[in-house]
Amino acid sequence: MSNKKKIWLSSPHISVESRKYVDEAFDSNWIAPAGPHIDRFEARLSELSLNHSVASLSSGTAAIHLALILLGINTNDSVICSTFTFSASANPIKYLGANPIFVDSERESWNMCPDLLLQAIQSEINKGKKPKAIILVHLYGMPAKMNEITEIAKMFQIPIIEDAAEALGSKYDNQPLGTFSDFGIYSFNGNKIITTSSGGALVSNNKKLIDRAKFLATQARDDVIHYQHSVIGYNYRISNVCAAIGLGQLDVLSHRVERKREIFNFYKNSLSDISDITFLEEKGKCFSNYWLTTILLDRNSTIDINTIRSYMLKNNIECRPLWKPMHMQPVFSDCLSYTNGVSEDLFNRGICLPSGTNMSHQDLERVVNTIRDTYEA
Ligand SMILES: *Cc1c(COP(=O)(O)O)cnc(C)c1O
Repeated sequence: MSNKKKIWLSSPHISVESRKYVDEAFDSNWIAPAGPHIDRFEARLSELSLNHSVASLSSGTAAIHLALILLGINTNDSVICSTFTFSASANPIKYLGANPIFVDSERESWNMCPDLLLQAIQSEINKGKKPKAIILVHLYGMPAKMNEITEIAKMFQIPIIEDAAEALGSKYDNQPLGTFSDFGIYSFNGNKIITTSSGGALVSNNKKLIDRAKFLATQARDDVIHYQHSVIGYNYRISNVCAAIGLGQLDVLSHRVERKREIFNFYKNSLSDISDITFLEEKGKCFSNYWLTTILLDRNSTIDINTIRSYMLKNNIECRPLWKPMHMQPVFSDCLSYTNGVSEDLFNRGICLPSGTNMSHQDLERVVNTIRDTYEA
């Protein structure tokens, strides 16, 4: 094992600003799942998302769960979901006893393939069961093909939940991801582009639905003096302390995006002479926050991703395989899927490089040199 300093994939990068807001929360005794910092955090998030209404929550997963409830998803309903994602995108479908239908990726953005989406909807309708919602993921911060997918969803009047957990700060045609659809969700987990330690948000241009989300997220207490409940509630709201951390993080979000993009460009330029390695790049109207820089190895590459990964590990550098597609997961083995082999191929040939915004230039060079050494070893 190397005695060099550990380089993490993407570790929390807290700003000095956060401490100021957290001190305010402590000094005013708002150590509660309510308080002024939550209101300010939601107002700031709203500014960043086309003035949509915002419910800040305990996690991105909670946001997806509430969005599905608000769309009326029930037992045995079908919900389409990107297969190339983290399991949290799909788990809430199962919380409701509904059935995920996984749709594979296209090669340009790695996100949901519009052609396959169309095929999935049509063939499910032919079977007599129209899917009730689409969970569309913007993986690694890269925008999905919004024009095509929005058009298909409109044609069949199927609502979309945009899973922008990894894509806060990304844009398509200059519009923030998470604002194109009926609902958008963000995550502020420890390794996301900004963190509140743990947290998430649900956004929508429908204020009534967001008010309803806040009601459900705070145990669904009826508006009477005693404790009365007419529907099942959840304890899903964010803590005021976490919202205070988040306020400080929003102060630096644009710097974080800038830094992530610098990291991507550094890797791309430094490895440009290795023809085996290609990058997931922005095309057309896409602007990515480059949450994680990912590389793909050529099919005929002399080394494979496991060789790189174990070499990195030996040098105390964390790197990760790409997300294993949901249709290949044991837990979803009984679910329907529409596949074209793309996400499976990406999974076999791709790897995430350390992309923490708090990495130094030397850290980045160490990663590049380690990849080069792998090729020369
Ligand atoms: C992180 C993540 C989530 C879940 O967010 P949490 O805040 O961790 O619950 C959902 N979808 C994707 C694509 C994610 O990366």
